[in-house]
Amino acid sequence: MSKNPAPVSKWSLFCGLSSKELCPRGRYKCMRNSLLLVMLAITLIPLSITSGLNFIQYQQLLREESQANARWNAESAKATISAYLEKLEAAITVVIDTYSFEDLSDGKKLEHIFRQLKKEHKGLVDLSVVGPDGIQSAYVGPYGLTGRDYSDSLWFHKALTRRMYVSEVFTGFRNVPHFVVAASKKDPYSEHYWVLRASIDTETLDRFLALADTETLEDIFLVNDSGILQSSSRYQGRAMDNFQLTRKPKQNDILIFEEMRGDSSFYRAVSRIQNTPWLLILDQQGAEARKIWHSFKVRLLLTLGLCFLVVGGMVVWLSRFLAGKFREADEMRDVILSETEHSNKLASIGRLAAGVAHEINNPLAIIGEKAGLMQDLLGVEQDFRYREKFLDQLGSLQDAVVRARTITHRLLGFARRMETSLTLIQLNEILQEVLSFLEKDATYRNIHVILQLQENLPVIRADHGQLQQVFLNVINNAIDAIRNDGEIHITSRRENNKTVMVAISDTGPGIAPEILQNIFEPFFTTKGNEERKGTGLGLSITYGLVQKMGGKIEVSSEVGVGTTFIITFPVYYEDKSHDSA
Ligand code: ADP
Repeated sequence: MSKNPAPVSKWSLFCGLSSKELCPRGRYKCMRNSLLLVMLAITLIPLSITSGLNFIQYQQLLREESQANARWNAESAKATISAYLEKLEAAITVVIDTYSFEDLSDGKKLEHIFRQLKKEHKGLVDLSVVGPDGIQSAYVGPYGLTGRDYSDSLWFHKALTRRMYVSEVFTGFRNVPHFVVAASKKDPYSEHYWVLRASIDTETLDRFLALADTETLEDIFLVNDSGILQSSSRYQGRAMDNFQLTRKPKQNDILIFEEMRGDSSFYRAVSRIQNTPWLLILDQQGAEARKIWHSFKVRLLLTLGLCFLVVGGMVVWLSRFLAGKFREADEMRDVILSETEHSNKLASIGRLAAGVAHEINNPLAIIGEKAGLMQDLLGVEQDFRYREKFLDQLGSLQDAVVRARTITHRLLGFARRMETSLTLIQLNEILQEVLSFLEKDATYRNIHVILQLQENLPVIRADHGQLQQVFLNVINNAIDAIRNDGEIHITSRRENNKTVMVAISDTGPGIAPEILQNIFEPFFTTKGNEERKGTGLGLSITYGLVQKMGGKIEVSSEVGVGTTFIITFPVYYEDKSHDSA
């Protein structure tokens, strides 16, 4: 038998070994692993790339959103403080425009106005009137600051030069951080400027800033240009503490940049509050510190892990399945190849034998003729000394010639394309016919033939004579094997929609495995020493005929138990497609 080429040589490249170096099992294992690797790469690499891109894109999106949040929160906090101050400034303007210095220096009037203002403006601590000389002429509030001299105070000078002034946060005489909103007015008689001043504590600023608190807000506070805190901060300290301000915006811009606190980054928005000495600073959580980012990462990892598991499982299954299918296909191909090889071998031996038979036929005819002539001559020569001996020898010669001719005729019949005439045949009928030829022989040898023939067996299309020869050969062999006293079981059955089968089993001595593999070969016989010598052609002819009819012959045997031949034929179905056309 020729060796088949390694069917999975391409795959063996992945294992780093040539297909010759791998055993068949190793080749399929290697193929399975290669398939596994390729399919894992095809599925998981794009999945990982997509997830990576998703990761980066979402991170970028969150960063942009955090920056936008920081800007928006800073704008709204700034607007809240500006609105508060503008309202207070408007109220003070109304008061200073309505009343004269003398009116307001009257403690009762000032107290009345203070009460009215306090209702509207929360956080207002006191209200006072400061004369042109800087001496506080009237004061309403908890600190009792009447008569204090503010001529050296920065806020007083600033208030004199501007119509309205919002001061930085300072501690002043009361020693408590606060800021003032002061307005100045020219006295029409003295032509000197006097000041109306309202003080507000820094807690009011803290309260307004606290309004901007959101989940992602880290810190919000006010600071002046010199880096003194104007309100309390979560991380930087209380009002009047120092703070290191690294970058300041130009005018009304909002400056947003990334800062680090410990290991985590955050976004800082810095913006000036117009008409005040304050800079608003807002720290917003960085994208990576946000809960939403954390949960996104967890979900992404879980999804990715799940996908890896599912895809991995499917790929493992698929690679096993495909490798199995390849293996099955290769095995089937091997079987078909060896069957074809076997048939080809039989055919070529048959052709060879037929050629030899043809060549031998002529010399045989001459030998037979000459032997006959010699017999005739001896018939005339009555006094020949060795006549009887010669006649005897010539008889043996004639017998041998007849036997040799039988063989050559069978050989020629085996190889010749016999004229076949196909008819629809009921297998049971053929079996009965064949048995009628062999009945006598079987009875003589005390062999019981037991029939189990299925009724209404579908017909097959075959040559009547050839089919008889098939069953004759097989049943004859069974009788030869049993010799005397035994049983032959003949069963016919419909196997499925497509095939019918005949099983012929005998209670003969069985066939040894080493013999079994040769019985279909031409000239293989074990009947060499018997009186009815075998030619070794019966089964090879049978094999060829069955194949020609589209059938199959199989044998199974157990030494000491018996032998069974199973012959299968395709059921004949009328092709109705032509009728309907
Ligand atoms: P032949 O009958 O001339 O020997 P065959 O081709 O018919 O040639 O058979 C080949 C060989 O197969 C036989 O010689 C015999 O050894 C074996 N054989 C065939 N059928 C049987 C059987 N039913 N039981 C035992 N051996 C068998």
